[in-house]
Amino acid sequence: MSKMLNFIRPEINQLKAYTPHPGGAITVKVDQLDTNESPYDLPLEIKEKLTEIYQKEISTNRYPDGSHHELKEAISQYVNESILGDIFNSKNISIGNGSDELIRSLLIATCVGGSGSILVADPTFSMYEILAQTLGIKTYHIGRNEIDFSMKIDQANTIINSTQNPPIKVIFVLHPNSPTANSLNSEEINWLKSISQDILVVIDEAYFEFSQTTLAGELNNYPNWIILRTFSKAFRLAAHRVGYAIASEEIINALEKIRLPYNLPSFSQTAALLAIKNRDLILPIINNILEERAKIYQELGNFPALKVWKSNGNFIYARLNCEPEKSQEKHQNLVEKLKLKGTLIRHTGGGLRITIGTPEENQRTLNNLASFL
Ligand SMILES: *Cc1c(COP(=O)(O)O)cnc(C)c1O
Repeated sequence: MSKMLNFIRPEINQLKAYTPHPGGAITVKVDQLDTNESPYDLPLEIKEKLTEIYQKEISTNRYPDGSHHELKEAISQYVNESILGDIFNSKNISIGNGSDELIRSLLIATCVGGSGSILVADPTFSMYEILAQTLGIKTYHIGRNEIDFSMKIDQANTIINSTQNPPIKVIFVLHPNSPTANSLNSEEINWLKSISQDILVVIDEAYFEFSQTTLAGELNNYPNWIILRTFSKAFRLAAHRVGYAIASEEIINALEKIRLPYNLPSFSQTAALLAIKNRDLILPIINNILEERAKIYQELGNFPALKVWKSNGNFIYARLNCEPEKSQEKHQNLVEKLKLKGTLIRHTGGGLRITIGTPEENQRTLNNLASFL
């Protein structure tokens, strides 16, 4: 153990750095089904266009456009399309260096300095709590019902009503959730509608393009709601780190004050803009992913050792049927064995999260699973 540095805050000393692929960097060819990326690179014609713009139009000695105006405009139109309406414009959008940056900005805007705590429903995306910890913000946890992973709302209400100094200021939900892949049901949505205006409701729609259901159409009615989305999944741009928030002008203004002035490199802005303008070339392959998802769901269901849940994302959640005391070890074991065979999946939330890959990757995954189950 290295020496503790006394000038570093204790909560940072206690924290472990986030490792996307536990066990180290990937150096050999493997099926990377542990981070929910798209298995498909950007179409070559778009990459070529991006290269051309880089060569001819981007001056690398100049700072990027710090207003993100053109990209915000294009995103707001895309969001309008998703609700078959016309309620959003560029003032309703803030763009982050990945939606991770937006999560951090939201926490700074609401909770730092003892102003608030956050609430999450486990299992869920780990980044909310990790980022909260780095900012000295406390996270409260509620559970989910095993049948469908809906949230235990009564637990949430109890915590919200009894927590003071600091009170709950933000609730993070996912639509659909990761790792369990369930969308919010109507009871959960009604509950979110009933939440006090003094609490910010963050609805993370990172997997919107796979679920094709959004709550963006409700934002006008609930001024304490904000939706997060990303280019890292369906838009096949994880390498470029672009995420966005959709909310009222007032919430967006707060985020814009916190954002670093040049948070989004020119190359990434250009890539996101090209992707959104050429979405007809990028998004249709989602249908293949959904077909593969249906196939894998069915095949996994044939393993008596596994319990599998329906998915609204580009990944499937499953658990080994075993005694709770052995669960951690057994899941970890399986993940390690698959890794030796070249299949990376994620052990999280007490189960297995398997990203849908190409048909070849998926077949190898099923074969490898079959050899161990
Ligand atoms: C992948 C993912 C994101 C996207 O993060 P980026 O920083 O935009 O890459 C956000 N939320 C959830 C739940 C995710 O799974």
